[in-house]
Amino acid sequence: MSEIELPEIFEIDSGNAGLHLVVTGGVHGNEPCGVLAVQRILQEIEQGIITIEHGKVSFVPVCNPRARAQNIRQTERNLNRMMFPKSDPKAYEDHLDNVLCPLFDTADVLLDLHSCHSQSPPFIFLGPQTQENAEYARVLGVSHYVHGFAEALGDATADIDPKFAMGTTEYTRAQGGMALTLECGSHRDDTAPEVGYQAILRVLRYLGLAQVDQALIREQQNTEQHCIRMTQAFIKEEEGQFAKELQNFTTVQAGEILATYESGKSIIAPADGYIILPKEHETVGEEWFSFGTASDYFESALKTEV
Ligand SMILES: [Zn+2]
Repeated sequence: MSEIELPEIFEIDSGNAGLHLVVTGGVHGNEPCGVLAVQRILQEIEQGIITIEHGKVSFVPVCNPRARAQNIRQTERNLNRMMFPKSDPKAYEDHLDNVLCPLFDTADVLLDLHSCHSQSPPFIFLGPQTQENAEYARVLGVSHYVHGFAEALGDATADIDPKFAMGTTEYTRAQGGMALTLECGSHRDDTAPEVGYQAILRVLRYLGLAQVDQALIREQQNTEQHCIRMTQAFIKEEEGQFAKELQNFTTVQAGEILATYESGKSIIAPADGYIILPKEHETVGEEWFSFGTASDYFESALKTEV
């Protein structure tokens, strides 16, 4: 392999006691929102508009530099799957794991910024159902949430590898950190960088790492909460097509045909619910779409005494 482009880490240490926050963008190279949001915050820190007063923040604007340079999701494998340190790195993304995982090992909190293929409101992939996770999710300024991702994808890919569903947040949680993925909208959504920027400001304030000027923070427009438990992930087994146009969070009815393979085999909605992250023209063997049902995650998490 010629020279290996590794991600740049910008560490801002206040010199005072406090938590270590890690903020990442560009884990997938075709998702500009996180890159732009992190670059904007770094610029505002440089200009003195934001000052880190407690703890430490590590910003990684471009986690996958080679994919970002080509505006593609990944080069040799999905960086956000099978994430763990590699003693014998082979794929380009394996080398990135060996830079990112040691950083995540030291994170108290991770905010990982992404965008998605289909049209979608911004949403958060939630962690395990605890009060701490629920409160962290609530501060980021969005109203849609999905949980159960690692479990559903883990079930669908257990025969590929038990670590398949291990991404940035799953890895960080396994090391004891608190971690969330924020999907800031679709890749093409002009407002997605602002969603990411707002989330960074909010988490800096929430963790007490920076005094953030209230004028910078936009009021949350849609405060009606929608939470979905992802119950099934479908890997595309062969060529096929969706039965209708599916966007993220399209509602479907129990018994409805969702997709049909060329062999004639269909995927049927197991209950009334929602489509999650559909990619109709995804290649065979990749994640095609997922299904979920309405969830009371917040009601139960916020009732739990921790
Ligand atoms: Zn992504």
